[in-house]
Amino acid sequence: MNTKVYLDNAATTPVEEEVINAMVEAMRLNYGNPSSTHSAGQEAKALIEGVRRNVARYLNVQPGEIIFTSCGTESNNLIIKSCVTHLGVERIISSPLEHKCVAEAVRDAKVRKGCEVVYLRPDHNGDISLQQLEEALQASDKKTLVSLMHANNEIGNILDIEKVGEICKKYGAYFHSDTVQTIGHLDLDFSKINIDFASCSAHKFHGPKGVGFAYIRKTSRIKPVILGGAQERELRAGTENVSGIVGLGKALDLCMTNLDRYANHMKEIKSYTAQKLRETIPGIKFNGHSEDLEKSLYTVLSALLPFKNPLIGLQLDMKGIAISQGSACSSGAAKPSMVMMMILQDDELENTTPLRISFSHHTTKADIDYFVEALQEIYQTSAIEKTNV
Ligand code: PLP
Repeated sequence: MNTKVYLDNAATTPVEEEVINAMVEAMRLNYGNPSSTHSAGQEAKALIEGVRRNVARYLNVQPGEIIFTSCGTESNNLIIKSCVTHLGVERIISSPLEHKCVAEAVRDAKVRKGCEVVYLRPDHNGDISLQQLEEALQASDKKTLVSLMHANNEIGNILDIEKVGEICKKYGAYFHSDTVQTIGHLDLDFSKINIDFASCSAHKFHGPKGVGFAYIRKTSRIKPVILGGAQERELRAGTENVSGIVGLGKALDLCMTNLDRYANHMKEIKSYTAQKLRETIPGIKFNGHSEDLEKSLYTVLSALLPFKNPLIGLQLDMKGIAISQGSACSSGAAKPSMVMMMILQDDELENTTPLRISFSHHTTKADIDYFVEALQEIYQTSAIEKTNV
């Protein structure tokens, strides 16, 4: 790989050595099918159950409420589709800022199942109004699912899910939060939050790709979307990804054990990056609450560069820097992302370039210096081109 500096950790993170080692060991030694009744199968099953107990302990929930899946996308689909098909949900309240996997599942519920969908309109900071949520809940007696992400993957804004949970409880609505960007990075105690469903993806916190889980509150009576076996408490058929689950468990262990140290490091790196960018690129702005360490994820800094350059990702890549303009799913697209369209004015969309800089505990100040220098070169060229027009 020619990448010298990796600043796309919101898209995916490098897998930790300890995680790789644990996975290789599981592949080598625990190849039994967890559904087999012989010892080889039962050893593999025991590994999975051990990870389930650990995950449940970190979130302060019951092990039976953790359902391993193939990814965050599958977890969100399972939850939304089953709510509509099996729990009698006729109405979904969501927002236009959701990840595509939630947005598409909600749209599908509307188009194919006739579900009513209400989108809460974010303000120019990307904030969802809790008053608007309450009004939307008051407006109908239909069985409702509220689906609002915990932290936005493009701008990093964090939603107060405790408050959202309280409001949902008051109106008897189910509450689902896409927690893909927060599990592994924040200390979450679901026993203190009125949340029914959440999702997780291991590759967002230095685990492998292709494994995640859905948190499903025991009392919710969800049914499977993938049929064909009794695995995962009959909620997700298919032979389990044993080594992937082991990798997820190891990655979560490492993140939770080192949570404060990692968080402090990334907070410092994020502030350093914002300060360097301000010094180097006059007129730069930061989207949403991106610069506020309390209101936004410390892993994400969403910048708005004061010039138009749709090729910036490519130009930075040519200098050995891996970075996205928005979410991995929307970067490369000709149109601005839905998130940017929602929070930026027309003239900003016309004359600026969003850049999502996302960090891990491996990111160093030297990485940031290299990136800022490369960006400055691009900025100067853009400025010269602009004056020559
Ligand atoms: N939800 C959010 C907020 C994400 O950032 C992502 C990944 O980009 C997903 C869901 C999808 O997760 P996965 O890549 O595991 O399908």
